[in-house]
Amino acid sequence: MNRRYRKTVIAGNWKMNMTATETKKFAEDMKKIMPRVKWCETLICVPACNISTAIKAFKDLRISVGAENVYFEEKGAYTGEVSADMLKDLGVKYVIVGHSERRQYFCETDTTVNKKVHAVLNAGMNPIICVGESLEQRETGITDEWIALQVKSALYGVPADKLRRCIIAYEPIWAIGTGKVAGPDEVLATHAVVRRLLCERLGETGNRIPILYGGSVKPANAGNLIGLDNVDGLLIGGASLDAQSFVQIIRA
Ligand code: PEP
Repeated sequence: MNRRYRKTVIAGNWKMNMTATETKKFAEDMKKIMPRVKWCETLICVPACNISTAIKAFKDLRISVGAENVYFEEKGAYTGEVSADMLKDLGVKYVIVGHSERRQYFCETDTTVNKKVHAVLNAGMNPIICVGESLEQRETGITDEWIALQVKSALYGVPADKLRRCIIAYEPIWAIGTGKVAGPDEVLATHAVVRRLLCERLGETGNRIPILYGGSVKPANAGNLIGLDNVDGLLIGGASLDAQSFVQIIRA
């Protein structure tokens, strides 16, 4: 299916970077160089404490603000956690769920990822569900099975009408923050696995769900990546922290 039937999504992930003051400065820098974007949805996922600042600062830039994480329970005695309703109430549209750093450092599992996907959808937002294999898994030849398992687990029990609001981000763990980008054949093959799964679940509608690539995306490689079949956008870590390089990626 032609990609013009799908939304192109350029998403930044600031991780644990940028204070509120730096967020405002970034927005000021962006105002000088941001093109009037009609060809894609642009968003940046920021630390929870800076969401309100970012929403205010990015308003005129037409950059949506996303969250980097959420807790799956609705409310209660979960000190330090942030619920989906709290994010929604601030004006958040997108929430990253299951980033490999959260799986690695914060014991996130396929089960908690699935619960978070439900929580985000129930609150009326869009989950950006991250999946990806380790270098060892790729070298062992089990990438396709691993990715399929992660996608199936994340989407378990999600009804078709809500599935349409999901975004999948394929992020090979060995490519995140390493400067190593997955090769075109690797990206094509893995995105095709995800697309097949989505179409099995949703029929033709599976073609409408954006699949993003993430892992060392830079201005120099963004154009080639976005030109690949089934690559409907990019999830960008390091390069989204710099206004110039983020805009260059949007233009790519
Ligand atoms: C990420 O954190 O999602 C990511 C892709 O990081 P980077 O672009 O820095 O590799």
